This record gives sequence, structure tokens and C-alpha cells, in this order.
Amino acid sequence: MDDFRLRVERVKTKLIENPESVLNHFKLDYVNKGNRLVLRCPVHSGADNESAVSVMLDGYVGCWSCFTRFCNDEFGGDLLGLVWGILTNRQNKKPLFGEVLTYCEENIGIGEATAGDTDFVRLCNTLNKEIDEHKILGKREQLIKTLQIPSPYFLAKGFTPEILTKFSIGDCHNPQKPMHNRAVCPVFDETGQFVIGCAGRRIPEKDYLKKWKFSYGLKVGSYFYGLWEAKQRILETSRAIVVEGQADVVWLHENGYNETVGLFGANLTDNQLKLLNKLGIMNLVILMDGDEAGREASDRIKTKTQDYFNTRIIHLSEGQDPDDLDPQELNSLL
Ligand SMILES: [Zn+2]
Repeated sequence: MDDFRLRVERVKTKLIENPESVLNHFKLDYVNKGNRLVLRCPVHSGADNESAVSVMLDGYVGCWSCFTRFCNDEFGGDLLGLVWGILTNRQNKKPLFGEVLTYCEENIGIGEATAGDTDFVRLCNTLNKEIDEHKILGKREQLIKTLQIPSPYFLAKGFTPEILTKFSIGDCHNPQKPMHNRAVCPVFDETGQFVIGCAGRRIPEKDYLKKWKFSYGLKVGSYFYGLWEAKQRILETSRAIVVEGQADVVWLHENGYNETVGLFGANLTDNQLKLLNKLGIMNLVILMDGDEAGREASDRIKTKTQDYFNTRIIHLSEGQDPDDLDPQELNSLL
């Protein structure tokens, strides 16, 4: 690691040691909620609510989010980014990153390196490690040429051609392909331009096949189905709706709930939680299937996420899935 990078790691590590001292240094008013510090955003100007910013004290220690203007996107979601944002606000111009680093070293109690620092550097590297990168398999326009879009299977289930085309969902008739005899829901990266995998639903005549098949190498625990379509609305509304299945996602989008994403199952992993944090959401709606497994999953997800977001579980009646609900039922629940 070069000297500059080492300085960055040391400063970040020292800031993480005591997030409160950072806020105290800038004489900011905040409330300690146990697992996080809550305050008015010290980065953007103008009217703001008193709990616009959260600085985490456990889990992703030192990560901060500005829920009203997403200031963390511009400066970086760690404490060094927060300092950068505060200095920018106070000086009315954006200092260079190196100046921010020097400011921290000289002003926020960060002295010479000591032997004990290596552990903190390691901790810091772990915290900063990016969520699993997805391997790009090809371009969207290439994949869609291989499918019969809109999928006859999903059309028969009552989905419109428009929504199936929007999600590029089509049946695969090519015996050379792993998704042969399946209705394929491609999984795209966050830009929507590149394919990172596929989820294929067996079609009715082939009921000896496993119901859903995921393409090899797709990291379902580090992503959400439909994120490329949902991201914009999630950022606009600070709300995400999580559902279990691909069809649930498409059905909710069909009905205007574009902030819906799918878990590829009934589990919310640490990486998926990290993704939600990165999106800066405030409200999380949990809409699992109406069965025993769905109810248990809802409770698990609520326990895991309630320290980070306002979390609401919607319970469906026994045997009911989100894609069974008609528009009126959806409206009254959501
Ligand atoms: Zn802000």
C-alpha cells in the first residue's frame, strides 16, 4: 500500500473509533439512539428535518446517510466523506480530498501511527470492501434475441405484454441452452444494460423440472431481482418493497409500485442489507407470501432491518401471494 492510501486508511480507522468525537469536533447537535447517531444534515443547506442523517454505531460503523438529499453519494458514505461534506458546507467550496485528509490529521486527534493500528487498518478494509462484483455475461440486446418475448407462459398468467417486454421476460425454446423449456427472467446489472444472470421458471408441460432455476454463478445473495428498474423510484421515495419472487416483482411494477425488488427467495442476506443501506432508504415494506415460511421470513427480516429503517410487515392471508392481489387490494395494503 502506498503512503497516501495508508494515510487514508489510518484516518478512516481513527474516525471510526469514535464517531461522536467527529460530530463533537464540529459542534453538531445529535441524538444518540444506541445503534446510531441522528442529526440534521450538516452538509446540504436549506430547511431539513432533524433526523435527516444517521451515522451508524454498530454493524456498518461510521457509515452515514443523508436521507433527504443523499449527500453521502457526493462525498462518500464513510466518516471521511462526512468531514469532506461538512468542510465543503462551511467553507462554501469543495476542498481537495488531500486537504480534508490533512485537516483530519491535524485537527481530529489523529497522531503518529502506532503498532496497534494494523488491526484497525484491517477492520477498516473489511468495512470498505465492496459488495460482491457481478460477472457480466453479455449485453442485454444480445440475450433478448434468444428468447420469445413477451413470454407466452407469463402472458397466460395475466401479465401484460408491455411489462414483460420492459423486463425482457421470454420463453427459451433452444435445447442447447441451460434455460431450455423455461420462462426466463433475465437479471441485469444496475444500469439495465448488461446481463449478470437468469432466473428460469419451468413451463407447465415440463413439470418434472425444478420449479425455478438460477444460472450458474449468479450471486443471488448480493443482489435484488428488478433493482435496475426499481433503483430510480427507491431513490426518489426513500422506500423499498421487498418480495420473494420474480413474478411478484413484475406484478407490483405492473401496478405502479416501481420501488419493488425481489429477494430470489425468503432470505435477506447481509449483502442485501448493505445494498439497501447504500440506496439510503428510510422505509422498508416486507411483503412475503401468505404461508408459514413467509410469516417466519417476515419476522426474521424485520429483526434484521428494524435498527436501520422504519420497517413494516404486510401479512397476506393463508395461500395468498403478492402476485395474486388485484390492484384495489394492493392499493389498500401499500
Ligand atoms: Zn444532506
